[in-house]
Amino acid sequence: MKRIRRHLGWKLFLSYLTIVIIGVVSLAIAAELHAPLALTRHVSNMEALMDSEANDMVADLLENFQTAVTEVLLVAAAIAVVSAIIVSTFVTRRIVQPIQEMQIASQRIASGRYEERVQVVGEDELAELARSFNQMAHTLSQTEERRRQLIGDVAHELRTPLSSIKGVMEGLQDGVLPAEPATFASIEHEISRLQRLVGDLEELSRAEAGQIPLQLEDVDTAVFIQAAAERLQLQYEDKGVSLTLELGDDLPPVQVDTARMTQVILNLLGNALQYTPAGESVTVHSSVASNQLADVQGEQCVQIRVADTGIGISPEQVRHLFERFYRVDKSRARTGGGSGIGLTISKHLVEMHGGSLTASSPGINQGATFTVTLPIGVGE
Ligand code: ADP
Repeated sequence: MKRIRRHLGWKLFLSYLTIVIIGVVSLAIAAELHAPLALTRHVSNMEALMDSEANDMVADLLENFQTAVTEVLLVAAAIAVVSAIIVSTFVTRRIVQPIQEMQIASQRIASGRYEERVQVVGEDELAELARSFNQMAHTLSQTEERRRQLIGDVAHELRTPLSSIKGVMEGLQDGVLPAEPATFASIEHEISRLQRLVGDLEELSRAEAGQIPLQLEDVDTAVFIQAAAERLQLQYEDKGVSLTLELGDDLPPVQVDTARMTQVILNLLGNALQYTPAGESVTVHSSVASNQLADVQGEQCVQIRVADTGIGISPEQVRHLFERFYRVDKSRARTGGGSGIGLTISKHLVEMHGGSLTASSPGINQGATFTVTLPIGVGE
C-alpha cells in the first residue's frame, strides 16, 4: 500500500486497472441481464416458425450462449489488463521519468549545485515545467554568484582602510609616527570612508530588495535639480568647474519622491564634478521626450541630462558603470573617496520610480552624459 502511495507509476496503473474492472463488470452485468432476454425474444420469434421438438435445443442454446459470453468476457478482461500494463508502463516512462529527473535535480540544487539543469523534451506541460525549472535554477545560480561576488567585494573594500588604520596605529605604538593631529586625522579619514561604505551598502541592500519607501508626489523637475545644484554650488566654485542649468519652460511635473530624486541628481552632479577638470563645464538639461523603455515606448516622459566635458568613459567601460563597486580608475576613485556604489543605487532609485538611468560617452577625454528618464505625473 505504501509502495502504491509513493509511486505515481503504480497509481497510474491502478487507475487503468480500475477502468478495466468497471468496464468488464458493466459488460458482465449487461450480458447477464439483457442478453438472455434479447436472445429469448429472438428465439421465440424463431419458435413460432419451428415445431415443438426444437424447444430442448433452444434451452441448450441459451445455456451455451451464456457460457460463451462469460468466456469471451474473461478473454477480453485478460487482454484489457495486459493493455493496461503496457500503456501504464509507457505513460509512466513519459510522465514519471521527467518528474523524477526534476526531483533529483532539485535536490542537487538544494545542496548547492546550481549548475544542475533538466532535459526539455517536447512541447507539453511537462516540457513547460522543465523549462521553468531550468529558468529557476539559472536565476538561483545568478543570485548565488552575485552574493559570492558581493561578499568578495565588501571584504576587498574593507581591507584597504582597515590595514591603513592598523598601519598608523602600529606606527604610533612603535613611535615611528608622531602622536599629532595630522596622524589622527588620517585615521579619522579612513574611518569616515568605512562609515560611508557601510552606509552605502545598507542603502544598496535596501534598494536591491525594493525596501526603500517612496513618497510620491507630482513635482516640478526644477525643484530637485536646483536643490542638488545648490548643495554642490560651493564645491563647483572651489574647483573652478562651471555648472549650468538649462531647465525647459513649462515642463510637466513628474511623479517622484523629491528627497530620493535629489539624491540621484546629487550623485550625478558629484560624479561630474569629480571627473571634470578645473576650467571645464557641467550642464543639466531637462526636456520632454518620447520614452524609449520597451513597455511604454513612445509615451511622453521627462528627460534630465547631466553632461560634462570631463575625462569621459571608454565604450567597454560604459557597460559596467552601473555594476556595484565598479570604478573606471580604482586608484583615483579611492583617493576621491568613491566606493563605486553610487550609480548602482541611483539606477535602482530611478527604476523604482518607473524611469531609467543610462550613461553615454563619445570616448576618453570627451566628456560623459548621464540621462534620467521619468514618467510624467498623474495630474497631467
Ligand atoms: P563612485 O562613488 O566611485 O563615484 P559611482 O557608482 O558613482 O561610484 O561611479 C562609478 C564609476 O563610474 C566611477 O568610479 C567613475 O569611474 C565612473 N564615472 C561616474 N561618473 C563619471 C563621469 N561623469 N565621468 C567619468 N567617469 C564617471
